[in-house]
Amino acid sequence: MDPFKQKLQEIRALAPFEQAQVMAKYRNMCICPVCPNHNTCAMSKHEWFYCFTGRSFFCIDFERTCICDTCMVAKETGLKHSFFCTRGSETAQRYEHTLWGTKIP
Ligand code: SF4
Ligand code: SF4
Repeated sequence: MDPFKQKLQEIRALAPFEQAQVMAKYRNMCICPVCPNHNTCAMSKHEWFYCFTGRSFFCIDFERTCICDTCMVAKETGLKHSFFCTRGSETAQRYEHTLWGTKIP
């Protein structure tokens, strides 16, 4: 099975408080705050961890560099996409790619 789908199934099988613990762990591992694409607006609004929570609201509307491919969360959860701050979560990008017929599932 695809590693991201496998990870989601594992998380969904947990009790709600355990799911929250896993999400908090991954949020703490997120390296968005040191990415060139992140900014003070996003920091002040405690925005990061876009791969699971979705794109930035109001703060990030440009794409310079994405360092998600060096993040342990991406490795541990099997993410295939990037620029989650501008393009939406992994789940959202996968859904859009199925609609528009690209090769990444
Ligand atoms: S993959 Fe990107 S958005 Fe997700 S936790 Fe890592 S740095 Fe943050
Ligand atoms: S999602 Fe990627 S581009 Fe956006 S802030 Fe995080 S690491 Fe940078």
